[in-house]
Amino acid sequence: MVNIKKWEEEEHWVEIDLDLCIGAAECVNVCPVEVYTLIDGKVIADNIGECTDCLACLDVCPTNAILNHSAW
Ligand code: SF4
Repeated sequence: MVNIKKWEEEEHWVEIDLDLCIGAAECVNVCPVEVYTLIDGKVIADNIGECTDCLACLDVCPTNAILNHSAW
């Protein structure tokens, strides 16, 4: 079964495939407003409401686990 999770707040949202997420934390490190947090080896995006659509997180994931993002 596919394990895709979506976090959404107002006009900002992100969809992540948690089966693909390996906990590399590249998105955690690159995001300037701390949208992402790593919990038990998987990323969560509980702070998506702070997203500034800077696009920085979109290229850094080594497994392309960020499937869709409102910044695209
Ligand atoms: S687009 Fe920028 S601000 Fe938004 S989640 Fe990605 S790195 Fe963070």
